[in-house]
Amino acid sequence: MINIEVLNLGPMDNCTYLVTRGKEALLIDPAWDPNFIIHTVESRHLNVQGVLFTHGHFDHVKLSQALLKHFHVKAFLEEKDVALAGLPAELLHTYAGDQHFQIGSFDVQILATPGHTAGCVCILIEDVLFTGDTLFPGACGRVDLPSSNPRDMLASLRRIAALPEDTRIFAGHSYGGRCSSTVADEKLHNPYMRNALRQEKN
Ligand SMILES: [Zn+2]
Repeated sequence: MINIEVLNLGPMDNCTYLVTRGKEALLIDPAWDPNFIIHTVESRHLNVQGVLFTHGHFDHVKLSQALLKHFHVKAFLEEKDVALAGLPAELLHTYAGDQHFQIGSFDVQILATPGHTAGCVCILIEDVLFTGDTLFPGACGRVDLPSSNPRDMLASLRRIAALPEDTRIFAGHSYGGRCSSTVADEKLHNPYMRNALRQEKN
């Protein structure tokens, strides 16, 4: 069973996730305050097994170089967002599309969910889906940015909706003070997901 901690960092309500099992840890979208993140990890004697980015936007990767160098780990990033992230190649594990990784003791599934950016992914660990800027509680990410694609977003929202209903969701920002939900709640209450599911029927 994994444990999830939300670190709210930076001026844009970004959520960095510290995922742990025993003393093993993964970091998802560690940005803005590497010193705080390093201190949080080291004060609890955790071993960082890996770092994953949900996409390449600056507010999800900002200042992460220092952290990657400190922990001597590379960050997993979908290849279509590499240019966007602007991180040096030697700090990245790049990949294309859906993946299944074993990182330390963590079984990690990557679901390609383009729409907000071309390289957006959701990260599934056990029953927890880290959705980045693809899905927020009650909303979805912007699709009017460079490399956004509204049609892809609809397909990505349907893909998330097809997961087991008790799948827990943790999003890339805590807009309105809230970053977590479930697939069941989103299918009931998220107008963007409901719209995507309606369009599939037509
Ligand atoms: Zn974004």
